[in-house]
This record gives sequence, structure tokens and C-alpha cells, in this order.
Amino acid sequence: MQSPNRRKFLQTPAIAIALPGIASSQASAQSPQRLREGREQFIRQAIEVAASARKNGNHPFGALLVDERGRVILTAENTALTTKDPTRHAELNLVQLACANISSETLAKATLYTSTEPCIMCCGAIHWARIPSVVFGCSAKTLGSIVKSDDFLFPCRETFRRTKQPSVLVVGPVLEAEAVVVHRDFWN
Ligand SMILES: [Zn+2]
Repeated sequence: MQSPNRRKFLQTPAIAIALPGIASSQASAQSPQRLREGREQFIRQAIEVAASARKNGNHPFGALLVDERGRVILTAENTALTTKDPTRHAELNLVQLACANISSETLAKATLYTSTEPCIMCCGAIHWARIPSVVFGCSAKTLGSIVKSDDFLFPCRETFRRTKQPSVLVVGPVLEAEAVVVHRDFWN
């Protein structure tokens, strides 16, 4: 285990980067059980980022980027309300920062974890950034039932299916019962 003082973070209230090579590490999941446990750990972390977004006065969404070695190299939360920019979704913030700070080679092997299924705008960003896989917690359908609207809430698999191969691999919902908690009492 690395000592905490070896970690370096470039941080703003909404976005943090853990530099590759000195981030907190986790052994690569090999067995299906370890793979599942690893996914659940990262989804829980994304939910924590979503809770931070809500605490900071924004919509409750959070995302993080995990490299091929199972290290969280970047996190970002929604900043739509505090920036008065409705496009500042957690995944879009994450992709924008990733493209500015992370090599395309690393991105090409990374996985984006998000507390709630990405919208069509963020799917576009993920596609154009060539991030090959996405894991989400709460589904768009469940979010729709919470906000009592299905406006612009599509399953991301439908969006990614329209892209040329290779399409983005999607896993989810993961730990949806935990992922919905951060939305409770927010949207009504
Ligand atoms: Zn989005």
C-alpha cells in the first residue's frame, strides 16, 4: 500500500486528478468475483463524488476514470448550477479534463465510471474521446422515474450502438439501489 503523502492531486472544488503512477492502486481484477467487486468499489466512489456535487450546490452526479491497472486517475462532479452552464455534466467535465491531461494511449484503455447512466451528450464526448468502456450505477430509466420525466433520458447502449465499431462497452446498472440514494429528495 502506498503512503497517503505519496499521492499528488491537482484539485479544484469540482475536479481532481490523481497523476498516473502515483495514484491509489488496486490490483487488477482477474476473476469474475474480483471484477465485480472492483466495479462496485468504483461505483461507490462515483456515488461519493455525486454526493459531493450535491453538497457543492450542483446536480447529484459524479464520474471517475480508471486506468487499465485499476487506478483512479481522475474524478469530476457535475458543476451545472454553480457555473450556470447546463452542459457541465460530470462525465463531460471528466472527459474534457482527461483529454487535456491524460494521454490518448491511456484513455484508450481506461474505463469511465459514473454514478448515473450517461446522457446522450456525454455519450458523444465519451465516444469522441475514444474511451472504450463505461460502467454506470443508476440507470437512465430509473432516473426518469425519480425526476418523473423521460425527457432526453435514453439508454446509453442505444446511443453507443449507433457508432461505428468498436462500440463502447457498457456495464450497468451496478449497485443501483445505492446509486439512487443521492437523488432522493433532490428533484422534487
Ligand atoms: Zn450528460
